[in-house]
Amino acid sequence: MESRTDLSRRLREHGLRVTLPRLAVLECLAASKSHPTAEEVEAAVNRAVPTASRASVYNVLHSLADAGLVEELVFDDAVTRYDANLQRHHHFVCTRCRRVLDVDWSAAAPLSARPGGHVVESVSVTFRGLCAECARQAEAAGGAARRSPIGT
Ligand SMILES: [Zn+2]
Ligand SMILES: [Zn+2]
Repeated sequence: MESRTDLSRRLREHGLRVTLPRLAVLECLAASKSHPTAEEVEAAVNRAVPTASRASVYNVLHSLADAGLVEELVFDDAVTRYDANLQRHHHFVCTRCRRVLDVDWSAAAPLSARPGGHVVESVSVTFRGLCAECARQAEAAGGAARRSPIGT
C-alpha cells in the first residue's frame, strides 16, 4: 500500500494541492481493487475522516478524475466507478456477482496501432462472464442448475 507521502507526491505531480479529503479519497481508491462507486468511496472515507460530507467526497472524486489521477468507469449498470490503477489494463464484469475486476493488458492488447488507418489513442476492453469464484461455484453445483430453470 502506498504511503501518504507517496500519495501526496502523486497529488502534487498532477497539480493538486494536498488536502486531507483528497488524501483520504485517493488512499481509499489506491488500496481498493474493487472499482468502488462514489457511495462506496464516501462510506469508506467517512470511516477514516468522519467529517467528510457527501458533496466534498464527490468534488474530490471529480477533481481527481479531471487531474487524471483516477479513471471514471461506467459499465452495464450505468453507475460511475472509480479506479486508481493507472497502469494499462482491461476490465472483467461478472454477470453473476457484478464485481468489476482488472484484467491484464496483454489479454487483449491491440493487434495494430493503426487499424484501418485510424490512429488508436486508447483501448478499453470489457470482458463479461463468470469471475473465477462464480465459475468455481457454478462448476461445483454441476450441470443441475443449467438443466432446471432458476426458481423451480
Ligand atoms: Zn462473480
Ligand atoms: Zn481497473
